[in-house]
Amino acid sequence: MSQTFVAKNLQQVREKVDKACKRAGRDRNSVLLICVTKTKPVSMLQDAYDAGERAFGENRVQEIVDKVPQLPDDIHWHMIGHLQKNKVKFLMDRAVMIHSVDNEALAKTISKEAVKAGRVMPVLIEVNVAGEETKFGVSPEETEALIRAIAPLPGISIRGLMTIAPYTEDAESNRPYFKRLRELSVDIKNKSIDNVTMDELSMGMTGDYEVAIEEGATMIRVGTGIFGERQYPV
Ligand SMILES: *Cc1c(COP(=O)(O)O)cnc(C)c1O
Repeated sequence: MSQTFVAKNLQQVREKVDKACKRAGRDRNSVLLICVTKTKPVSMLQDAYDAGERAFGENRVQEIVDKVPQLPDDIHWHMIGHLQKNKVKFLMDRAVMIHSVDNEALAKTISKEAVKAGRVMPVLIEVNVAGEETKFGVSPEETEALIRAIAPLPGISIRGLMTIAPYTEDAESNRPYFKRLRELSVDIKNKSIDNVTMDELSMGMTGDYEVAIEEGATMIRVGTGIFGERQYPV
């Protein structure tokens, strides 16, 4: 059987991940590849699944809701996009983690829905390290205060930080942002705040995941590099 487009791309991505881990002296198992499947048809997700991938990322709740029943149930769905409070409840029996918490009101809603659902939702704090006006995320300066405000909430567990670096043709230009996110996470970890572990760093996309791995990413979010260009802007 000939390899699918997705399987071929995945092979290349995995090789680059392996090499980046070697360069950085890191264990390959310390980096989770999240296949970003937004806008892509279920058939392509199935190809990634058949090639062995189990972690998928979406940025719209509706797309997760639509896709979950059409695919195997051992997929781990990561919510990586901006999230509206009224959509949070649909994630409780579908998502393994929410990467995009950047305000207290959203955290409170996740807490309330998680308690109602009888679960604990792992979350990451989205930080706008580059200070881009168009991006969501809390500023580095406000990150600790947000974490301290939401850490006591029941039903959520703060596992680390996430960032979306600027779009660039030159991955190296994002290195300082990845470094900054890592330093921020170490600073916060050292404060030993209850209910905050800071073991996850979700950073790096198709254009810059190798640099992100070198700077300590534990989760990389790769869409285009696996599934090809998206057909419409999201
Ligand atoms: C779309 C998206 C990605 C993947 O981007 P690619 O450049 O296609 O790899 C990663 N993270 C988030 C939050 C996204 O919305």
